[in-house]
Amino acid sequence: MKSRSAFRNQPRQYPKGHNRPQLVTRELPPRFNQTPHGLQMLCPFCVPPHPLVPGQQAACGTVVRVTAIQTVVPARTAHKYDLRCLKCHETGGGPMVRSGNGYVHQADCVPGTRILTEPPPNSKFAERVFGMKDGMPRRFIENRYGKAQCVREVDVDGNETGKILSYFFQKV
Ligand SMILES: [Zn+2]
Ligand SMILES: [Zn+2]
Repeated sequence: MKSRSAFRNQPRQYPKGHNRPQLVTRELPPRFNQTPHGLQMLCPFCVPPHPLVPGQQAACGTVVRVTAIQTVVPARTAHKYDLRCLKCHETGGGPMVRSGNGYVHQADCVPGTRILTEPPPNSKFAERVFGMKDGMPRRFIENRYGKAQCVREVDVDGNETGKILSYFFQKV
């Protein structure tokens, strides 16, 4: 008796009026194959496995989805621990993300300034162009190679040390 009524009280998986979906999906991480050109993703469902390209559906219907997941410090947690942004030097002001040993606002709080995870390799040419005054030659070069920029070193509190780490061309 007990088991019967318990069975009857089970909620339906698909409520009345909703049809079961005609198609369902299965998920498995792709297999990886080391090639001279880098890692190749292989279909985990097919034998023999075939390569998968992110965003392109394979003949077997498999799509590989690549997702970058970043940890975000919500505004309330940033406030609780009084985290100071390396870029604008403010506390508060919304969610933050890690940057090296510190944190920066998730929103672009200082447009035009970026905290780089890794300084780009130094370019002697970019350094020369960076030192040129604005004018036709500089604009010509920058149209072609990107804007000459420098990377200024900042300390753990986000204050500039005055040291320039490298020069590079920034493509827009
Ligand atoms: Zn496949
Ligand atoms: Zn900020």
